[in-house]
Amino acid sequence: MQKLSLWEKFSEPTEIQAIENALPRKKYSSVSKHLNTEILVIGAGLAGILTAYRLQEKGHRVIIVDAAEAGSGQTKNTTAKITLQHGFFYSDLISDIGETASRLYAEAHKNAIEEYARLVKDFSISCDFERESAYLYSTLSDEKILSEYEAARKLDIPCELTTETSLPFSIVSALRFPEQAQFHPLKFLRVLAAKLELYENSKVLDVTLNKNENGETQTSCAQIESSHGSFIIEAEKIIFACHFPFLNIPGYYFARMHQERSYVLALSGILDESGIYQNGPKAGTPFKGMYYCIDEDTFSFRRAGSYLLLGGGNHRTGSHPGESQYEMLKTAASQFFPQANAAFCWSAQDCMTGDLIPYIGPFSSDTPDWYVITGFKKWGMTSSMVAAGILPDLIEKRSNPYSAVFSPQRHNLSGELKAMLTEGYEASKGLLKSTADLLLSPYEKKRCRHLGCKLTYNQDEDSFDCPCHGSRFAKDGKVLDGPAQEDLRL
Ligand SMILES: Cc1cc2nc3c(=O)[nH]c(=O)nc-3n(C[C@H](O)[C@H](O)[C@H](O)COP(=O)(O)OP(=O)(O)OC[C@H]3O[C@@H](n4cnc5c(N)ncnc54)[C@H](O)[C@@H]3O)c2cc1C
Repeated sequence: MQKLSLWEKFSEPTEIQAIENALPRKKYSSVSKHLNTEILVIGAGLAGILTAYRLQEKGHRVIIVDAAEAGSGQTKNTTAKITLQHGFFYSDLISDIGETASRLYAEAHKNAIEEYARLVKDFSISCDFERESAYLYSTLSDEKILSEYEAARKLDIPCELTTETSLPFSIVSALRFPEQAQFHPLKFLRVLAAKLELYENSKVLDVTLNKNENGETQTSCAQIESSHGSFIIEAEKIIFACHFPFLNIPGYYFARMHQERSYVLALSGILDESGIYQNGPKAGTPFKGMYYCIDEDTFSFRRAGSYLLLGGGNHRTGSHPGESQYEMLKTAASQFFPQANAAFCWSAQDCMTGDLIPYIGPFSSDTPDWYVITGFKKWGMTSSMVAAGILPDLIEKRSNPYSAVFSPQRHNLSGELKAMLTEGYEASKGLLKSTADLLLSPYEKKRCRHLGCKLTYNQDEDSFDCPCHGSRFAKDGKVLDGPAQEDLRL
């Protein structure tokens, strides 16, 4: 089993599929001088690339920078379902924010799916974009499925109850959302990236405001570190699309979000190139659909070429359950598909807000020219496109029907309060552990470079992960995931 995402593997020109239709990865230079621009986008994952592209399309002067390579963050490790079906979600959403706002949430994501279809068609992007139905299913009870069905109907989301699926085991009930989609995220991203002024291996260390003598903000300065040295990019507007915003103040996102991690296997030996089951109870029939289980042991499935992707093993980053999540998935795979071979495995994480609605909009009330895109709760393919629709309107001071729902300044007290209490509790646990460090060996003393919480070991990734805010570090101390920006001092 190779530890590599299928998207990375099959976007290199040496691979068979790639010869047919992939765009080889273009090398972008690093920042090598001081620059200025109208809009600086920090982070070239899907959120940053789509937003930068949309702004440029509207005539803005945009620079986008990434600490590493475009698409090399969570975007390369997604499962890339493009859907408004976000797990067991709409029943709770209606209780939390009411029917009108929930309808806007769903509508924004529905439009996002169509916008992908438009871009793929307009630019003839070969990114394996396919229309598929998204299924929510349970093997235990129909209670939650029915509740989600009622909620979806209230919001006018087309869906139907069914017991017919392509899964090789029986289910109690499923809810099918037609006309969703799936794709190869890196093949798609690289086409849009090539249209932008993009700098790679150029990390933003800090962003500060330039004020005139009257105290009015004029521009923002991003301090960049690249292989060529230290530089400043001066910009009228800044967009933080760096997954987890690395500035603690303003915004206080560290107190409003945590991260959750989950794991994926790409299974071979089940389907042929056209997605037909080669063996088992469904032999000869096609695998259709993308599946998400709402039972406690949540598994997700989708097809990618002749591979079947099996996802699961969700946990709060920094709270690895102990037993290997890859082994757990392999055991599940052998029960579902005895002939399966786990060819590739990978994992990723995403930011969770208190009310499970992304933060898309002004970074804070004190920084009117800074914007943020984060908190995708593992549904960032569609939510990135939602962001790319909202931010140009905010920047151009036009009203947008969806901006209030996603506003980082929204006041959903139950969600915010829940997040602040939980994040505060987890952070104090993490910090308390660090004061007990005096008794530990140097190896066990590793503390996060973000706010000093005690790190825990993730045996699946051989990494040290922060249970408070989800930063991760390799064994050699190199920072893997933010909000921490600096390597560990070993
Ligand atoms: C296992 C798993 C499966 C998923 N499957 C799906 C799915 O099927 N459908 C779906 O919709 N969503 C899915 N998601 C969620 C989706 O993958 C993410 O929401 C999305 O990829 C996030 O994109 P992003 O651009 O916000 O972040 P990223 O892709 O992480 O991009 C952020 C970029 O910012 C850069 N950066 C960070 N700090 C700095 C800095 N200081 N200076 C410059 N650059 C910086 C990073 O290098 C990175 O490239 C899944 C998530 C997980 C964990």
